[in-house]
Amino acid sequence: MPPETVEVRRSARRRRTVSAYRDGDKTIVLLPAGLSTTDEEQWVHRMLDRLAAKEQRRRFSDDDLLDRARELSTRYLDGRAVPRSVRWVDNQQHRWGSCTPDHATIRLSARLRGMPAWVVDYVIMHELVHLLVPSHGPRFWALVERFPKAERARGFLEGFSMAANGSPEEC
Ligand SMILES: [Zn+2]
Repeated sequence: MPPETVEVRRSARRRRTVSAYRDGDKTIVLLPAGLSTTDEEQWVHRMLDRLAAKEQRRRFSDDDLLDRARELSTRYLDGRAVPRSVRWVDNQQHRWGSCTPDHATIRLSARLRGMPAWVVDYVIMHELVHLLVPSHGPRFWALVERFPKAERARGFLEGFSMAANGSPEEC
C-alpha cells in the first residue's frame, strides 16, 4: 500500500466540527481554524482511523456477505448450497459461525470483522457446507477442503482463539 496522501484543510467557518472524506486517492480532513498543531495531529489520526473503520464495515455489509457466499457456493460447491441470508451477529462469543439449514441462514461472529478476507471466506464456506452436511464427518471435510486456503484459515483462527481465550473454537 502506498502511503496515504492526506490534505488538511482548515476553515475559519468551522468551529467545532471535524470531518474527513476520500477524494480519489487523497484523503481530505476538514478542521476548524483554531486548533493547535498537536490537536491537529491527533484529530487527523482519529479521523483517518474512523474513516478506515467505516470503510471496513461498509466493505463487509450483510449484502456483501450473501454475495460472497453465493460466489463461494458456485465456485467450490457447484452452487449446491443456496444460502438465503448471511449476516453479522454480535452475540456469538464462542463460535465463529453458525447456520440453520432448514432456513438456509448463516450467521457470522462480528469478531471476524477486520480479519483477512480469506479467513472470513473460510468461515462462510464452512457454514455453506453445513447447509449440505450437518455433521463434521469425512464428507463434510472433503467439501470444506475444496476451499484452497481452508487449512491455513483454520490455523489462523485457532491461533487467534488460543491467544484470546487459551482454547480453540468450533464453527
Ligand atoms: Zn462446523
